[in-house]
Amino acid sequence: MAENKTRFIIVGFDGLRPDCIRDDMPTLSAFIDESHRWNHYLATFPTETYVNHPTIFSGFRPNRHGVIANAYFNRKVQSKDAVFMGNSVPSIETHDAVSNVIEIPTLGDRLGAAGKTLRVLCANSEGSTRLQHIHADHYEGHLNCCVHNISATLPLCERESLQKRWGNGVALKFPDYDGTQLLTDIFFEYELPRGLGDVTILWIGEPDHSSHEFGILDERTCQARRHADQAFERILNWWKAEGKDNNVQLAVISDHGHGVVASHYDLKEKLISNGWKVFSRTDLQAGKPVSDCDLVIVGDYTLGLWLTTANEKNLIRLRDELMAIDEVGMLFSQPKPQATADEVEGKVPGTFSESLIFSDHERGPDIRVTMRNNPQTGKLIMGPSLEIGTGNHGGLLPQEINSVLAMQGSCFKASTLVHEEPAGHDDFALTVMTLMGLMNTDQALEPIPQARMLSEAIEETEIQPAREEVLCLKEGNFEQYIHRVHFANRIYVTEGARAGDCTITALNQSE
Ligand SMILES: [Zn+2]
Repeated sequence: MAENKTRFIIVGFDGLRPDCIRDDMPTLSAFIDESHRWNHYLATFPTETYVNHPTIFSGFRPNRHGVIANAYFNRKVQSKDAVFMGNSVPSIETHDAVSNVIEIPTLGDRLGAAGKTLRVLCANSEGSTRLQHIHADHYEGHLNCCVHNISATLPLCERESLQKRWGNGVALKFPDYDGTQLLTDIFFEYELPRGLGDVTILWIGEPDHSSHEFGILDERTCQARRHADQAFERILNWWKAEGKDNNVQLAVISDHGHGVVASHYDLKEKLISNGWKVFSRTDLQAGKPVSDCDLVIVGDYTLGLWLTTANEKNLIRLRDELMAIDEVGMLFSQPKPQATADEVEGKVPGTFSESLIFSDHERGPDIRVTMRNNPQTGKLIMGPSLEIGTGNHGGLLPQEINSVLAMQGSCFKASTLVHEEPAGHDDFALTVMTLMGLMNTDQALEPIPQARMLSEAIEETEIQPAREEVLCLKEGNFEQYIHRVHFANRIYVTEGARAGDCTITALNQSE
């Protein structure tokens, strides 16, 4: 490599739980053992992919970037398309035309403004890929390619040249061996021969794809992890031979973890039987006008509820009905007007304010629900969209929040590799952007993220004190809690659930 400027390769393993590495991923495991790694690396709420990727690739939490759920109802968009679907490029484009889906400058924007490149190869959905760099067609030499649908690639010139060689990519099958393979092939046969970009994202869709399909410990998901580990071995071998000594930093990350689906509960059906007229995405897509329903429901585990008439009477009625359901876990609402940042209760009495978990936003629902789950077993209840025994995520279980981050390279110090400090995706983003020279200039795009630089991996630092807190809220018999850690002027959410004895046996049995 002729030049010696700082670059990054970020290898993502979607939905990889830190405790699922050791048995199936020997290469990744060995890499982590000799890297800077964080024992408390935390996803943001809701612990869904389309929410966490904009944080990983911007340095802002959902309350600032605006993608408040994998799917959400947007009152500003015309009824038929009003439910934003993060997995769909047409949906992202429709919503982006009304108002920016991602409301702040991203890693890609900052690199582009500095004349540097971001090149994304991703084996998640086309929409997930798009949200990693939504403006890849705005900047010279940028790339955003989903290996499962090359026709959605940005910019057009890249789409055409990739299609010539690889057609429209590979279909998603479970496990996604083909996606992992094609992503690696494009990196070695297309990216490297023409010169590595300034920041390259290689986002592998496993083990998330197979975890949802088969379960996190199913043998086929273990195979998916082994196969992803072999792909990583190829990347790591290249990095050791040619990247490491040429200022290429290698980061490995996962966006969220997984819980286990233990039981089904259909909240939409329950609300209908209680007398509400409830519409879901499919009702709106079928052309039913939103004014014909009492509320819109989106989601199946962490769900948003948007009332057509969000007056106090309706909000309290809905709250009381939700609190009477054993299968309901946590309840949140938007902050009260003029609330301070640490106001525990949201605008609906007895529910947590979304500002406590950094997901408050004008796009947010009137009431957000996470179905019941158990932090001891990692088991959860959700609607019927995923089978019992499979993996899912979106709530505040530690099993869903705890994620993977490991980094190695010339920018990082050689000693004290294990970090107990809490850290989040926004901190990772700020660290990458700072090391890339994007933040400490007069030209840095506004606003600047308030995240924490992970300086413990860069220079000798004194360990600062961390303060843990438990926030509790009780309304009648309904009680819920959130654990947070205050550290270095940042607040991190580490767990949250409904409190009290749970009599749902499926949630209490551990495997
Ligand atoms: Zn997932």
